[in-house]
Amino acid sequence: MSLYELSDEQRDIRDLTRRFADEEIAPHAAQWDRDHRFPLSLFSQLGELGLMGVCVPLEHGGVGADFLSYMLVLEELSRADAGVGVTVAVHISAGTLPVLSHGTAEQIERIVPSLAQGHELAAFALTEADSGSDAAAMRARYDAATQTVTGSKQWITNGSYARHVNVFAREDDRVSGFITRTFKAVREERKMGLHSSSTADLVFEASPVERLGPPGGGMRIALSTLDGGRIGIAAQAVGIAQAALEVATSYAKERTAFGRPIGGFQAISHKLADMQTEIEAARALVWRAARLKDAGRPHTIEGAQAKLFASRVARHWTGEAIQVLGGYGYTEDFPAERYYRDAKITEIYEGTSEIQRLVIARGLLGDIAG
Ligand SMILES: Cc1cc2nc3c(=O)[nH]c(=O)nc-3n(C[C@H](O)[C@H](O)[C@H](O)COP(=O)(O)OP(=O)(O)OC[C@H]3O[C@@H](n4cnc5c(N)ncnc54)[C@H](O)[C@@H]3O)c2cc1C
Repeated sequence: MSLYELSDEQRDIRDLTRRFADEEIAPHAAQWDRDHRFPLSLFSQLGELGLMGVCVPLEHGGVGADFLSYMLVLEELSRADAGVGVTVAVHISAGTLPVLSHGTAEQIERIVPSLAQGHELAAFALTEADSGSDAAAMRARYDAATQTVTGSKQWITNGSYARHVNVFAREDDRVSGFITRTFKAVREERKMGLHSSSTADLVFEASPVERLGPPGGGMRIALSTLDGGRIGIAAQAVGIAQAALEVATSYAKERTAFGRPIGGFQAISHKLADMQTEIEAARALVWRAARLKDAGRPHTIEGAQAKLFASRVARHWTGEAIQVLGGYGYTEDFPAERYYRDAKITEIYEGTSEIQRLVIARGLLGDIAG
């Protein structure tokens, strides 16, 4: 199968998601953005469609599709509403898949089906106020005597709505992974974009936890989670950029200036041509990384390349989409300004662009890369 062909199943999943997103998400996205509203009931609907566990095996309550199908879902959801896209991305990539990969058989059986069916939301709590890119500098602590974690985590996606949290904490001089349902969401962040998603600070006060993976294995779990998760953020970026291309293209056909549609000016038509070309290139990088992951092959560098490139494409071209719309692009009458605000975060979370470059450079140069 060529890089660009999708199987019938992949195409069906993409088309199902696109239809649902066009009918049930896109018409509300502007209002959710304005109201900073988390569309909680939507995730039960997505669960009924199988989209909250699309790449989770059938025997654990999912649809059993491949990782590329899941990337198609994230692109289509993000094309309608990037806040919905990140909610699902974190729920699956960072909430559910680490339990599948690192949990015991008993944990998988107990925890995964309800997540895969969208009955509960999941979160991933790594970042703290003083440790982001340098996650290993975290302060949250595990107390072995009481089997509890104490500490604070910052900017946790789904934080105010999740029931299941994968949390990372210091154990002696190492970091270990844990699972808990006991935590407090204390502050919902006010953000530049992604207003329909929840980003909260979580407090763990002697919270009872169970282990996820072996003692001291936390950074390995976190880093392998981010290896896959960042392909999902790249897919989110492609979805946002695609939405911006669509709004800019239809505007260029309808808006007239100097007696002709503005799409008739080469400055505009070539901008759209470049935009479409770079979005296709970003999509190809996402599909390549996803296919490597599906084949069980290394995908750390390819995932970093996909995220680095797709996030830059999204940030740059959502800005240019505003330019195509002129003054209207800067107003809330059109979605271009929302796409621009939503796109920026794709260069920051699940590893900043600087960290993606570091990952790629280490592949080229080894440890001398700084
Ligand atoms: C909306 C949102 C949702 C998020 N969701 C989650 C979540 O669900 N779970 C979670 O755990 N975290 C989450 N985060 C945190 C996010 O992953 C971090 O913000 C990100 O990893 C960057 O960390 P930092 O913000 O502390 O920046 P810092 O690490 O302080 O970086 C600041 C600047 O320094 C640069 N820098 C740092 N180190 C290096 C280096 N070695 N080389 C070159 N440049 C460097 C960075 O690239 C950046 O430009 C979220 C953040 C936001 C804003």
